[in-house]
Amino acid sequence: MTVFKKSLLTLSLAALGLSAVLVAAVLTFMNSLYYETNAESLGNTAQTVFSLLGKERITEYVAANSGPGSPFPFARNGAYRLTLIDRAGDVLWDSHIERPLVNHLDREEVRAALEGREGSARRDSLSTGMRQIYAALPVQDGEGRVAGVFRLSVTVPGFRRRIAPAALPFLFLAGLLGLAAFAAIFVFSRSLAASLGRLVDIAAGGKTRPALDPAESAPGVALEFLTLEKALRDMSAELNLRLEQARSEGQRLRAILNGMSEAVFAMDAKLILHLVNPAARRLFNLGDGDVAGRSLLEATHSTELEQAARAALAEGRSLEKELRFHGGTDPLGPGLSGPEQYFQLFATAADIMTDNTGMTNNGVILVMADITRLVRLEQIRKDFVANVSHELRTPIQLIKGFSETLLESPPEDTAQINHFIRIIYQSARTMENLTNDLLILASLENSGASPHDMEEQSLAPLFAEAVSSVETGARQKHIEIIVNCPPDIRAKVHGSFIIQALINLLDNGIKYSAENSRVWAAAYHEETALVLEVRDEGSGIPAQHLERIFERFYRIDRSRTRNGGTGLGLSIVRHIALSHNGTAEVESRVGEGSVFRIRIP
Ligand code: ADP
Repeated sequence: MTVFKKSLLTLSLAALGLSAVLVAAVLTFMNSLYYETNAESLGNTAQTVFSLLGKERITEYVAANSGPGSPFPFARNGAYRLTLIDRAGDVLWDSHIERPLVNHLDREEVRAALEGREGSARRDSLSTGMRQIYAALPVQDGEGRVAGVFRLSVTVPGFRRRIAPAALPFLFLAGLLGLAAFAAIFVFSRSLAASLGRLVDIAAGGKTRPALDPAESAPGVALEFLTLEKALRDMSAELNLRLEQARSEGQRLRAILNGMSEAVFAMDAKLILHLVNPAARRLFNLGDGDVAGRSLLEATHSTELEQAARAALAEGRSLEKELRFHGGTDPLGPGLSGPEQYFQLFATAADIMTDNTGMTNNGVILVMADITRLVRLEQIRKDFVANVSHELRTPIQLIKGFSETLLESPPEDTAQINHFIRIIYQSARTMENLTNDLLILASLENSGASPHDMEEQSLAPLFAEAVSSVETGARQKHIEIIVNCPPDIRAKVHGSFIIQALINLLDNGIKYSAENSRVWAAAYHEETALVLEVRDEGSGIPAQHLERIFERFYRIDRSRTRNGGTGLGLSIVRHIALSHNGTAEVESRVGEGSVFRIRIP
């Protein structure tokens, strides 16, 4: 029920009840007043009549007691009814009823008169709605003893009957008053409901009704309500502000968490997850579903993570740890899949929740940074240093050994001396080749072939220059180099790098081919790519080596390629292809020859 209805009903009922009680009280008072006035005047009349009729005569009549019905001089059927009663209560004479009457000793007024007092009484006739009033006087003989009762009575209309003619205007007036009261209650209830309604609106966000200043007059709204309304409005504005701040704060935090490449887990002291960022979901294949409420172990299947979280919680501080995950160990479950990955794990005990337990560090935050690339690079660096040292050791040992021999015990034979010196020279050449290749690699890694250094040019001159560089070697082995590069083939390339790549490929072709064979160099367009191809009919490469042939320092047969080979040539070729956004590939069959292609999109 609305406040309006409830207030209207309650107040109306209260008003109705109050009026009923008031009316009843007034009526009762008037009724008794009316009766008393009538009774009093009848008493006086009785005294008068008693005197007029003569006290002696009445006493005589009553004392004679000559039985009911003996004549008495009083008008029958007049306005007043006279009854004479003897001491025993028997009616001796009645002016209105001639038939014998029952004993009247039980009548209240009669008993009073028999006791020597003036009696009075009233009795209503339900059937006629009339009222009988009685006044009774004691009749005393000469010695003062009560001999009987002189009773006078008169009929007056009952109170109800008396006010009946005035009832209509009275009811009309009452109705009018009732209506007025109802209208007043109606207005009051409505204003009460309206005031409350405003408060409710404000509490619900203050959007449905226009704002109201307590200073300005607001018809029908109580001042208290206006003040309350103002207070509520202020409170609501303050709350909205705080809410807005909290919301934007949350949004900022979410944006940061979502943008992080590190996996982040926030969990409580029971290691139940409360927050997992997208990077963590991706890492552990958690999908988009709700993970809050699941345990860390259940979500990640990693006992290492769990142990780290427990340790951080127990020690109440941060700890750092390196983790290695073996990819694909659990292909069906959540967990990592794919190649081996390395992570730097930071586990920090933190207050992740504001609760009223007063407990500090009630949770743990785990952050996992993927350091796979760093670890790999570090490994490559270590391998590289080891490889370079290894490559340098052989020529250095040769140079050292033969020069020591030459210094300490030089051979007599000049041919022997020449042989030693040639070996020293060859070793120095190997070292020179190695350092040259390393320098080329370094320059490729440092700057690469940036678009800035590339220019649109014809490829034929590049081929010509590469061929002229390897010509001497080819001529020594009677190898014919056949070039097929149409002069109209142009491309945006880094000229000196392309020449270097072609030299490396041609040099290999010559190195690994028998004497009197041929090596082909060509450039052509294929679909959307430009292809630079070097083909030979040399020894070919066994299939098992093809996959790794472009790796640094990878050589098929170390003893066979001692002659100046560094194992870096093809690695440089691949680097150059990559720096042109292209690829380097090989096709080869043992005994038939090899084809190397650089494909530039
Ligand atoms: P290297 O300086 O030793 O030639 P590369 O990186 O150029 O190093 O070559 C790596 C290995 O690949 C060589 O040791 C050789 O065994 C093999 N190889 C390269 N090119 C050819 C080729 N045209 N025919 C046969 N084997 C080749």
